[in-house]
Formats: sequence, C-alpha cells, structure tokens
Amino acid sequence: PPLFPALTAALTATPAADRPALRFGERSLTYAELAGTAAVVAEGLTRARRVAVWATPTMETSVAVTAALLAGVAVVPLNPRSGEKELGHILTDSAPDLVLTAPGTPLPALLAALPRVDVDTTARGALPDDRAHSPQDPALIVYTSGTTGPPKGAVLPRRAIAATLDALADAWRWTGDDVLVHGLPLFHVHGLVLGTLGPLRRGGSVRHLGAFTTEGVARELNAGATMLFGVPTMYHRIAEALPAEPELAKALAGARLLVSGSAALPVHDHERIAAATGRRVVERYGMTETLMLCSSRWTPPDSPPAVRADGGARPGTVGVPLPGVELRLVEEDGSPVAAYDGETVGEIQVRGTNLFTGYLNRPDATAAAYTADGWFRTGDMAVRDPDGHVRIVGRKATDLIKSGGYKIGAGEIENVLLEHPGVREAAVTGEPDADLGERIVAWVVPADPHAPPGLDELADHVAGRLAPHKRPRVLHHLDALPRNDMGKIMKRALSRG
Ligand code: ATP
Ligand code: MG
Repeated sequence: PPLFPALTAALTATPAADRPALRFGERSLTYAELAGTAAVVAEGLTRARRVAVWATPTMETSVAVTAALLAGVAVVPLNPRSGEKELGHILTDSAPDLVLTAPGTPLPALLAALPRVDVDTTARGALPDDRAHSPQDPALIVYTSGTTGPPKGAVLPRRAIAATLDALADAWRWTGDDVLVHGLPLFHVHGLVLGTLGPLRRGGSVRHLGAFTTEGVARELNAGATMLFGVPTMYHRIAEALPAEPELAKALAGARLLVSGSAALPVHDHERIAAATGRRVVERYGMTETLMLCSSRWTPPDSPPAVRADGGARPGTVGVPLPGVELRLVEEDGSPVAAYDGETVGEIQVRGTNLFTGYLNRPDATAAAYTADGWFRTGDMAVRDPDGHVRIVGRKATDLIKSGGYKIGAGEIENVLLEHPGVREAAVTGEPDADLGERIVAWVVPADPHAPPGLDELADHVAGRLAPHKRPRVLHHLDALPRNDMGKIMKRALSRG
C-alpha cells in the first residue's frame, strides 16, 4: 500500500486535491501541488540509492523527503546545525549519492563534493506510483540524537513508518481534518516522521512556524489548527508564558490535542498548563530506533468524538503501549519484573513492526541492542502502575543512581526540585561515593541568580516530598543546563563538570 494515499488521491480530480498540505510562513502547497512538485524531484532521483537532505525547517525539506519516499530512495536527514565532526561522521557513514536542499542555501565545505539538487517547489509533474516499493525497503536513515555517544544511523523501513503513524492515529483519533502546528526541527523522528509524514499520511495539514514561539502557537491554534507537537522545553516556555498571555491560554484550551515527547515532561510544567488551560498534555515515548512505543490514549469521558484528546493523560506517565507494540519490563538478569506495582523498576524491552532494521554499518551495535529472544533493549528504565501506565524512570546509563542499596531514578528527584520556587532548571546525576556506592548530585539553574537555593534547603525539600535517601548530597549551581538541539539534557557533559 502507498505511504501517502492522500497524494495518490490528489491525482484524480477529487476534492482532496485542493486541500492544504503544507504551509511555511506565506508559502503553502495543496495536495495536488505537493504531488506535482514531489513528482519532479522524484524523477531526478531514479538512479540514486540513498540521498541526504539538508534539513532546514523549510518547504523544500518536506518536499524533498516526500519525493524520495515516493521514488523509493532512502533519505538521510542532516541537521544543518551539526558541528563539523558530527556531520563528517554522518556523511562518511551514510555515503549519500547527492544532497537535496533549498535554492540559495549555503552548504558547508564538507558537502562540496556531493552533487547538489535544488528543490523547486513551483515545478509540476506526474506522480510516480509508489506502490511497487517493498515495506521492508529503507525509507529513512535517522541518526540518533547523540545524547549518550556518537550518533548511530537507524535504518527505518517503510513498514515501520506506516505502523507507527497508524498506531498514533488510532490512539489519538488523528484524522485528515487535523491541522498541526509544528515548531520542531525536521532532522529527527519527532519533527519529520510524526510532524511531517504523519499529517501527510492522514491527509491533513501542517503549519510550520519556522521557529517555535508561544505567539506563533497561539496565533495558529486560535486560527483553526487542532494539534500541537512539542518537546518539553517548548511546554516549559508555554507554562512560563501563560500567566501573561491570555491568547495562549485560550488557544491551548481550544486545541484538540497537545502532545509532548522526546524527553520527560516535568510534572510541574504539566500541572501549570493544566491549571491555566484545563488541558492535559498527552505525553508519548519513543526512540529513533523504535519509533513510537507508548502514549496516553484518547479516552472519551463524555466528550463527542474528535473533540479532545487528553482523557487518559496522567502527569509523569507516558501512557500505555501503542497498538502493535509489545512491551515488557525486565530485571538485570533478564527475567520479567515481578509486579506492576508502580515501584519495581525494570528495563523497557520492546517488539513490533514499528522497529528499525538495524544501525547502518554497525552489526555489532545492532546485535548488542537485542536480547537472545529477539526483544529490543531500549536502555530506558521504567515502572508500570497496576493499570498498565508506564512511568519512565530514566536511562539505565545516566539516570539510574544506585545509592545505599536503593535504585533511584533521577527524573523523580528532578520533578520535585523543579517544584521549588528557587529552581528554574534541574538535573540529577550520581557520582561514586565510598559509603553509599553512589551519591546524588543536583545541578540547578536558580530562578534568581542572586539568591540561589542552598544544598540544605533543597535536600530538605526533596526528603520531605520523596524519602530521606533521595536527598541530594552535592549541589552545583549553573547558568544553564547543557542541552542538545532537541532540548535534551546532555548528562555526560554534566558529570564531566
Ligand atoms: P543517543 O541514542 O544517540 O544517545 P537519544 O537516545 O537521546 O540519543 P533519541 O532516539 O532521539 O536519541 O531519543 C530517544 C530517547 O529519548 C529514549 O530512549 C528516552 O530516553 C528519551 N525519551 C523520549 N521520549 C520520552 C518521554 N516521553 N519521557 C522520557 N524520556 C523520553
Ligand atoms: Mg538512544
């Protein structure tokens, strides 16, 4: 089956042809126009095996990726902000045949040796038939965020993209009537697969803000957009802006679906948004390698269909496994955890048609990522509530602190630190301790740099709300936390001081 039925439908003179597909600022394309322009780009790719896309947040990037998928050519999205070292690594590793970009965009010297194809969004041609491509064919090679090591290229087949988007459609009642407000970059799964290919597969439309602003979100939602996808740093900015921006509160209150993902949404921000707008942000959890794994489901309490999707959202949880995803929590020895009691921590392991086929050129890393019985090790630790809701505790490598015989999740302590009025941003790590094994270290950006909260005060705050053994023993004040392009905290940079 085609990845984008709505594009195929746009070829015949149906009403679907004139529906809006993509909008970036003043520029927009209907489905018929997108089909026409993607067709011309796709024609130029017939001899390519794999292409890079210089993934600026532009119409050209969206057209280039759509065209390559129609032509059955694998796409490597490149982050235009990546440093030379990372870009060099990705180019050598993926060896693309050419690079697609917007006309007039300057490219770094590293790309000079590659043939360059400028995407012309005004050209119109006849759409190729994409039904011949195998569901196993690689569609995207997406490099992981590099939060824990050098980025690895996850090879995502067409079937994984179709499976994850259809599972989300089911969980969120996502249809062609939805209009997405998009302020994310286009070189990762969140902004590219969910935020661009998602609406196109459903036959709905995308309004891209270019760069995220709370004003842009308010404007588009108040002008009829129905959903917002964001990362936690965006929802943090929204939570901070709400008291002073009544238009924003009105916009969020009227939206059908607000989704956060890519990292944990702090409970404090979730609650502030709920208090100001009456809306609960739906949190979903996924990885580049697996695409989407869990989300709150749209559970209609009394509301009519297609009205609101936040019924099942609960702060601090990522909901339940999506349709088609098998998920288990396992102990270090590989046995399943004894109970879903909201307490017992295990590693999340998964199976499903939404998974990647492996890391490019890394059979070692691919093999190491699977258990002997074929489950993918996410490296993320979680507990499940008795009703099945998954609570991510953090990454096994950086967020699980073994202190005084306890396994302590950094996220839980971070959430509580963020509730302290003197704390703007917080991260928690462990460091070796002769007595405890590891001791808890808090890294805090104070709300007021002239009056930073002290260690005793924060330790008492945590001990009073969680448990005495969860109190930080060391405190560092910082001006800002080190974050990557997706707003994720780079804990490796923290522990090195
Ligand atoms: P790398 O694998 O290169 O170190 P990365 O893991 O950050 O980088 P991604 O694939 O973009 O790269 O991110 C997936 C990870 O993000 C998950 O394994 C999980 O740790 C985290 N994550 C995603 N969504 C959530 C969420 N809702 N709550 C908590 N963590 C999340
Ligand atoms: Mg990862």
